[in-house]
Amino acid sequence: MAKRDFYDVLGVQKGADEAALKSAYRKLAMQHHPDRNPGNTEAEAKFKEISEAYDTLKDGQKRAAYDRFGHAAFENGGGGRGGAGFGPEFSSSMSDIFEDIFGDFMGGGGGQQRRGGGGGSARMRGSDLRYNLEISLEESFLGRTVEVDVPTLVGCTTCDGSGAKPGTGKHSCRQCNGHGKVRAAQGFFTIERTCPVCQGRGEMMDEPCTDCGGQGRRQENRKLSVDVPKGIEDGTRIRLANEGEAGLRGGPPGDLYIFISLRPHDLFQREGADLYARVPIAMTTAALGGEFEVPTLDGARAKVKVAPGTQPGQRVRLKGKGMPVLRTKDTGDLYVQLDIETPQHLSRRQRELLEEFQNLTTEKTNPTSDGFFDKLKKMFEV
Ligand SMILES: [Zn+2]
Ligand SMILES: [Zn+2]
Repeated sequence: MAKRDFYDVLGVQKGADEAALKSAYRKLAMQHHPDRNPGNTEAEAKFKEISEAYDTLKDGQKRAAYDRFGHAAFENGGGGRGGAGFGPEFSSSMSDIFEDIFGDFMGGGGGQQRRGGGGGSARMRGSDLRYNLEISLEESFLGRTVEVDVPTLVGCTTCDGSGAKPGTGKHSCRQCNGHGKVRAAQGFFTIERTCPVCQGRGEMMDEPCTDCGGQGRRQENRKLSVDVPKGIEDGTRIRLANEGEAGLRGGPPGDLYIFISLRPHDLFQREGADLYARVPIAMTTAALGGEFEVPTLDGARAKVKVAPGTQPGQRVRLKGKGMPVLRTKDTGDLYVQLDIETPQHLSRRQRELLEEFQNLTTEKTNPTSDGFFDKLKKMFEV
């Protein structure tokens, strides 16, 4: 099958810039993501195609190769991504989309002010922080605001982040005469290095702030509330722009990344928006049919109907009783898998009844096993 042109796939012009690529990708990926189109193989293929196109075009090197050689650039192990390894990328893609959007929505802006100051000034951007937040399946179901306690560096209020003792001044670094760099001759070469005394700042404080030792920031535990949206999945990152460590000597702060992990649940396993539960039922219920209730995550109960003649492993689907789908009004389903329990420790009377039952079985009672043993018999006869 001929592969479609990557620019056509994303519906952008050949010269499209990064922002245009990203926005085209985001729109299409949200539309065709398998989580939103369960069981739709066409959407899955489409999503794969979109992801591949975007993965190639967002990478300057790959894009240049693609522009020159087309798809041939990535064939025969030419550095492209093959069909393999698609699985893990799947899940990360959704979180990336999510993170992008969430970042924007949080008022972001952190991206533009990275590396504030630069050379000479020695104002340094604070580090990004990672906070691992474990939540229950119920919390993901309901969505909630979680208070987190983040040990971090915050701007020093005494010196307003400057690092200098209030009321004192600064003087030019005597080592480098305020240049921030020193030169040293080494053979024929003159080598320029960052000044070791002022670390490139070019100036020195007359007296460092006593509260922060001249760093302009202090260790502190910060309480933050994080909005965990309904339906959030295991492994999702939430970026809180500018909530990371304070910058050094008044530099811009870093970002805080909340890594969400979901605690395993006693009853439910989650797969995307769907939930799975295994429920043991008595052999007699499986044969005669019946009804029981399971608790659901909204705190209510749901009725599960067992059809007469239910086989082991058979599933009952409870529509709309799964997890909410992130940022939509959709909900997944709950699948109850029926495990049939064979009765044990039979009383004499029970045994009699089962033996009587066995004598009454006909071809129709156990069609599958009877058919199977017939097959075996034929094999032994050969
Ligand atoms: Zn201070
Ligand atoms: Zn210096």
